[in-house]
Amino acid sequence: MPASVLSRKSSTSSAKTVKIGKPVYFFGGGRADGNESMKNLLGGKGANLAEMAGHPDLRLPVPPGFTITTEVCTYYWANKRSYPKGLRELVSDNLARVEKLTDKKFGDPRNPLLVSVRSGARKSMPGMMETILNVGLTEATIPGMVAQTKNERFVYDAYRRLIMMYSDVVMEKAAGITPAEDQGIRRQLERIMDEAKKREGVKLDTELTTKNLKELCSQFKAKVQEVLGKPFPDEPMEQLWGSVGAVFASWMGKRAVSYRRIEGIPEEWGTAVSVQSMVFGNMGDDSATGVGFTRNPGTGDSRFYGEFLVNAQGEDVVAGIRTPEPINEASRSDQSRNLKSLEQIMPQAYKELADIVKRLEKHYRDMLDIEFTIEKGRLYMLQCRVGKRNGPAAVKVALDMLKEKLITKEEAVMRVTPSQLDELLHPIVDPKAEATHKPMGKGLPAGPGGAKGQIVFTANDAVAWAKNGKKVILVREETNPEDVEGMRAAQAILTARGGMTSHAALVARGWGKCCVVGCGALEIDLHQKTLSVDGKTLKEGAWITLNGAKGLVYEGEMAMLDASESNKMLEDFLKVCDSIRRLKIRANADTPEDAARARKFGAEGIGLFRVEHMFYGKGSEQPLFKLRKMIVSKTEAERRAALDELFPHVKSDIKATLKAMAGFPVTIRTIDPPLHEFVPHEAEKLAELAKSLNISLDELEKRASGLRESNPMMGHRGVRLGITYPEVTEMQVRAIFEAAVELGKEGVKTLPEIMIPVVCVETELKNQYALIEKVYAEVCKAKGVKAIAHLVGTMIEIPRACIVADRLAESAQFFSFGTNDLTQMSFGFSRDDTGSFMGDYLKHEILPADPFQTIDQDGVGVLMRMGVERGRKTRKDIKIGICGEHGGEPASVEFCHGLGFSYVSCSPFRVPIATLAAAQSVVKEKPIKKK
Ligand code: ADP
Ligand code: MG
Ligand code: MG
Repeated sequence: MPASVLSRKSSTSSAKTVKIGKPVYFFGGGRADGNESMKNLLGGKGANLAEMAGHPDLRLPVPPGFTITTEVCTYYWANKRSYPKGLRELVSDNLARVEKLTDKKFGDPRNPLLVSVRSGARKSMPGMMETILNVGLTEATIPGMVAQTKNERFVYDAYRRLIMMYSDVVMEKAAGITPAEDQGIRRQLERIMDEAKKREGVKLDTELTTKNLKELCSQFKAKVQEVLGKPFPDEPMEQLWGSVGAVFASWMGKRAVSYRRIEGIPEEWGTAVSVQSMVFGNMGDDSATGVGFTRNPGTGDSRFYGEFLVNAQGEDVVAGIRTPEPINEASRSDQSRNLKSLEQIMPQAYKELADIVKRLEKHYRDMLDIEFTIEKGRLYMLQCRVGKRNGPAAVKVALDMLKEKLITKEEAVMRVTPSQLDELLHPIVDPKAEATHKPMGKGLPAGPGGAKGQIVFTANDAVAWAKNGKKVILVREETNPEDVEGMRAAQAILTARGGMTSHAALVARGWGKCCVVGCGALEIDLHQKTLSVDGKTLKEGAWITLNGAKGLVYEGEMAMLDASESNKMLEDFLKVCDSIRRLKIRANADTPEDAARARKFGAEGIGLFRVEHMFYGKGSEQPLFKLRKMIVSKTEAERRAALDELFPHVKSDIKATLKAMAGFPVTIRTIDPPLHEFVPHEAEKLAELAKSLNISLDELEKRASGLRESNPMMGHRGVRLGITYPEVTEMQVRAIFEAAVELGKEGVKTLPEIMIPVVCVETELKNQYALIEKVYAEVCKAKGVKAIAHLVGTMIEIPRACIVADRLAESAQFFSFGTNDLTQMSFGFSRDDTGSFMGDYLKHEILPADPFQTIDQDGVGVLMRMGVERGRKTRKDIKIGICGEHGGEPASVEFCHGLGFSYVSCSPFRVPIATLAAAQSVVKEKPIKKK
């Protein structure tokens, strides 16, 4: 088919001209107009259907069909819901090709073709948009279908499904009707069906007889007329176009719009529509429908994993109307322990499917999510796409595929997102607590880690409670796309129905959120807002705890543990990252314990050790008292005496950390607190201090109030202290050098880097540099050593420092960007006070992101670039790093990589994330080399 350019200016002035290329792409019969790379145009589903149907290496059994492009969707919305000229003819032409391949005719009374009308955006939006099956069934085509299939029951089952889907999607949702809670047409029809089941004394849809189904269909139609005031359409073409329009309409539907907002999917993308000939999994016990993953998306286990239902259609598996059966032994769960597998029931079809799964994985070189249907023993592929997986599975699959030589190490590194890696570091329920608690229920493990929270029963409540600072767990019979906002707001999700491929499981996996699904023992009363298990009832607001990795539900609030620190898989994966990245990763650590943990996570040094830390927390009593003495000293003599007392504490602290980081650099920042923070307030402490200084309480109070500043963040701190009190700098530097010499004598290699904070003019640095040189010479002489390895540098955290970086580099051997303060001072935003307005700034898009979370590349980033360039002009090999919070944030890491930093430094728990981000930054530099 020649590519045509269709465009139409609508006569109305509000209409936009949308240029569109070829609007319809065919697939089937071993060939396809499109392919996998055309997701933007054909949507993920359409592009992959084309790939599976048409790629010479695949040519899989895909029912023929065609895809109407996303450009037509854009056109539709830009032109008052109308179609480009010529589209109807193109659709008819393509339908004719499908008819030829299937040897059936759409609307033909004797041998009718039925089609599905399927939505599909670039990125999968699970359950957000609509699909309509069995389109083309009418009073006129029903007898033909019955004659062709010799299966009247099946035909009426298909018909009742069509009426349900069509009236819901096309006649209600797309028409913009918002029914009252629980009064949607679908619910109303479902209730009629439930009544029929009750009347007939059966439980399952499959137990309804032909007669029952026939009756249901006419009741359905009457109800549709009654509720929606319109007859159910009996014209095949009307059904087809009604469905196509409804899929386009669903793009602007409420839940699709809200999902897009959460996921950051732009509205312009649009959805494609695929029209595909139907195959039927509901033709009897030799038919089935199922979904699967080429590997287990919950654990990464490399065996094919999936669920299916005999005699079912479409969404039945996902909707949880019956307990899905396992595809094979590897897919068995506690819930499906006694069910027959597909491998057992239909060995031939299973073998073919397993073989296709292998070929698909080899072709796509990634873990895939698939949909299939078996019609009277014949297998058809209906969908495939790269499968969502949780963090542990992502890491395992990447490592396994690398080992299997399916992918390169660069690809392996790109297969795990920083937030997926974060899941491996997620909190879990304390196993000790679990050992002593009996779970009140068990479902399927659908999301990582553990969580605790107060139960709520509706998405709206979840949002509202979370807004009030409550930690909630959303409990639902099963979730549906209308629940996404609530799922987002909740700590975790718990459902009574559904399997590992249910909506809740899919969404939670995508977000890396703790989730347990299919906990059948739960009885949920939505009106009373209660949850009961075995006669025990919990009310809204009660606490529960979930283990998402095992699918366990506990009553009450249980202890949680930080994620395990020694995780072989994590270590192996980080090794792959290490073999690629150029940036070094350091940690911000103030204690020997933090330093040891950072080493475990793979940190290659400390980027920020704050001397003042030893005056907080455990064991700080004594040093704090001495520091206070030093602070309120008046004469140099007094101060020197206090400093002498302080010295051994500072030295032993530094020594312990240097030792924990043996062989790696440790950046030690000289003391930098706003001084008044350390002046005691309690009378008792004040008295003690006065006594030890041998001064009156009055005198002490006078001195203390003299320290008070109206703007301490910009006050007498950092290098300014070292200028007024050189002996304070000298004491710290002496501690560092002596610790290094002593450790050297023990055979421990040390690389201290002395960092002067809050510098904004080169003379500050020169002044301190001279002090450091002097102490260095003294220590060398006193200890009888020739040299002590060390560097002297500065923190860059004041905008002026970036501007005069060339001059600072005359003294500084390294720069470390303190981006917290740099951001504070560049924006003029007080770091501690952004809470009151940052929310509004983000909501109104005044700022695209919180600059304290990710580096503001347009402003702060420009200053950083200036600092780097100017610094390097003076000192070509100046060492550059970052020690602000941003050092562990992936986008900021990539930015630092781009500026050619030698390292980033972040909190110990962020070290793995920074490591991954650093490796990904390298891979992103050039197009990925494929295996
Ligand atoms: P979703 O995007 O929600 O997955 P799909 O378009 O994949 O929606 O369709 C919903 C269900 O209907 C799926 O289970 C799919 O396999 C099934 N289905 C879609 N088209 C056909 C068809 N032509 N024949 C049989 N089943 C189909
Ligand atoms: Mg769906
Ligand atoms: Mg699907």
